[in-house]
Amino acid sequence: MSKIVMKTPLVEMDGDEMTRIIWEYVKDELIHPFVDLKTEYYDLGLAYRDETDDQVTIDSAEATKKYGVAVKCATITPNAERVKEYNLKSMWKSPNGTIRAILDGTVFRTPIAVKGIEPLVRTWKKPICIARHAYGDVYKNTEMRIDKPGKAELVFTGEDGNESRSLIHSFDSEGIIMGMHNTDKSIQSFARSCFNYALDQKLDLWFSTKDTISKVYDHHFKDVFQEIFEKEYADKFKDAGIEYFYTLIDDAVARVIRSEGGYVWACKNYDGDVMSDMVATAFGSLAMMTSVLVSPDGHYEYEAAHGTVQRHYYKHLKGLPTSTNSVATIFAWSGALRKRGELDGLNDLVLFADKLESAVTQTIEDGVMTGDLAAISQLPNKRAVDTLGFIQEIRKRLAASM
Ligand code: NAP
Ligand code: MG
Repeated sequence: MSKIVMKTPLVEMDGDEMTRIIWEYVKDELIHPFVDLKTEYYDLGLAYRDETDDQVTIDSAEATKKYGVAVKCATITPNAERVKEYNLKSMWKSPNGTIRAILDGTVFRTPIAVKGIEPLVRTWKKPICIARHAYGDVYKNTEMRIDKPGKAELVFTGEDGNESRSLIHSFDSEGIIMGMHNTDKSIQSFARSCFNYALDQKLDLWFSTKDTISKVYDHHFKDVFQEIFEKEYADKFKDAGIEYFYTLIDDAVARVIRSEGGYVWACKNYDGDVMSDMVATAFGSLAMMTSVLVSPDGHYEYEAAHGTVQRHYYKHLKGLPTSTNSVATIFAWSGALRKRGELDGLNDLVLFADKLESAVTQTIEDGVMTGDLAAISQLPNKRAVDTLGFIQEIRKRLAASM
């Protein structure tokens, strides 16, 4: 059998610990045998980030802007312990944060549904994709403890020196205050990313905020979405047979629980943080979720939503067997290859991505899975295998389907 040929390279961002081990296995067992893989390789492993003063992270994000599609392995975000462990020159920032700031995007997370792992919500038949705005609000806030009576005000000073003020609260005893912000530019990119993604996936788009209470702040999000939708997307949605609608977050939550799934739910930063954890848990596990960063310019970065699985890595280093779930990493590769195939008009590559994903679900539905899934699967004949064994089982099924 001849290998599938690629045109444009994928931007490959290697990572750390157990996921770095899985990265090699996935390429060796599931990609190289079938695809003449073309990548531009960036080593985002912590040691090389340190060696290059984190320049490699910036270069990898710039390369994503150049080529359009990246696939990223999970990476360590250093804390004080890691600085010691890796003898780092500095506590480098989160690579995901750096990449996101350069690409300016929205993160879309969708559970991977398989038979035997049933959602805790009985009505859910199809995945629910959460689109989380990744800038501002409570994540970029300023907070203050008030320890005596007095007046708290919101003050904006224009570059011309003019001030506008509004009273927050007159305190007659202790309390707390917080200031937060967002920018039109960021909200507009969030909106465009969501509309583009819904079109790409041919899924309805829901958006919710608390605009009845937050009549300026949240209401502005609603207005920005509505304006961009009407000007740029209404016709495209009609042609694609999909719908955009806005609803109050309280109503959205009730509808989500009663729904069958099968749509994109756009959430403000905090709502998306909390709701994606809820949705992922109700669907099964963080290792059974796809994650893609989509920029408003149409650049894509595919990744696994979980971390580097450090505890398993230390076992691996001691020569002990591990049973680490590689599904999210494999789907990062299949997602990136499919997108590359679509952009380059390579139908074989698109088909390969579909087959790779089918081989993964087939393996799990045949009862062969890693320990984390065996613990929750309702299949009667399930069998837990080790990290490499699972990938080799997928390879068998993939090879048979090629
Ligand atoms: P983690 O790597 O997601 O792992 C937490 C625990 O979840 C694991 O110990 C394991 O539980 C379970 N788990 C996660 N992924 C799994 C998988 N694929 N298969 C089986 N079990 C899995 O989170 P962490 O331990 O908090 O973080 C480790 C490192 O990852 C940190 O340095 C952090 O900075 C980094 N991180 C990176 C990203 C990213 O790059 N996207 C995201 C989050 C965290 P058991 O041990 O009970 O089996
Ligand atoms: Mg969270």
